[in-house]
Amino acid sequence: MTGKVYLVGAGPGDHDLLTLKALRLLRSADVVLHDALVSDEILELALPHARLIDVSKRVGHRRYTQAEINRQMIESAQWANVVVRLKGGDPLIFGRAAEEMATLRQAGVEFEVVPGITAATAAAAQARIPLTDRESASCVTLVTAHVAAGKPAVDFASVAATGSTVAIYMPGSSYGHISRQMIAAGMAPETRCLLVSNACRKNQQLQWTDLRSLRSITPAESPALLIVGEVARCRDESAASTLLQSHDGIVQAISHVAPE
Ligand code: SAH
Repeated sequence: MTGKVYLVGAGPGDHDLLTLKALRLLRSADVVLHDALVSDEILELALPHARLIDVSKRVGHRRYTQAEINRQMIESAQWANVVVRLKGGDPLIFGRAAEEMATLRQAGVEFEVVPGITAATAAAAQARIPLTDRESASCVTLVTAHVAAGKPAVDFASVAATGSTVAIYMPGSSYGHISRQMIAAGMAPETRCLLVSNACRKNQQLQWTDLRSLRSITPAESPALLIVGEVARCRDESAASTLLQSHDGIVQAISHVAPE
């Protein structure tokens, strides 16, 4: 084996939110294996000769299985010096990094992880809300509405009991289901919710509501993240440039991020 594989976080989309290390690696990579979530403006930072391979596995457009991605990483490390496995957000959060690191260890390929800004902190920053708060939320829980087959769904009752802020990745479009589950788990229907789609991208959209009204929210464009908790009580609409609608307890706004 000659090369080294870097599992690199690309952050939420805006290239200004890459780490310097991610940028340096992108500018020296021979191969970049990236997901669909990685924005074009970030891929454009790769060297002209770099081989860019889109290994996204979108439902309905299945192109690479996880086993194929693993194989591609190992094969790339056999001829390339620097292999960047570029993932949206942080590679260690809902990024299937465990499988990839196990494969690299097994194959004896040297690797390193470079963290990135995860969607929850990016979304909170755009809405200008904290994820923890001395008064109302002493912890934050990152959950996904999608779990591997055969694995138990999120136990919202135990999360609710801690009073944690909940950041729901991959919420899908069944907000009514999430709302019912969380209320059934003991969370107050008035608990604040913030749905952020395309955080830190030009088509960013923010919607503020509460658990009761969540079911009637306009389905957000993917990728979207749902933050549930009192921390979302501050509806800072100036965080978004255009207020679109305000009805049924839902405030929706679209903002344009970093127009350049
Ligand atoms: N590793 C990523 C998460 C991958 S799972 C991270 O740390 O952010 C994919 C989910 O992340 C999406 O379904 C969505 O819930 C969330 N996500 C990623 N980028 C996002 C963005 N720019 N805006 C809103 N949500 C995002």
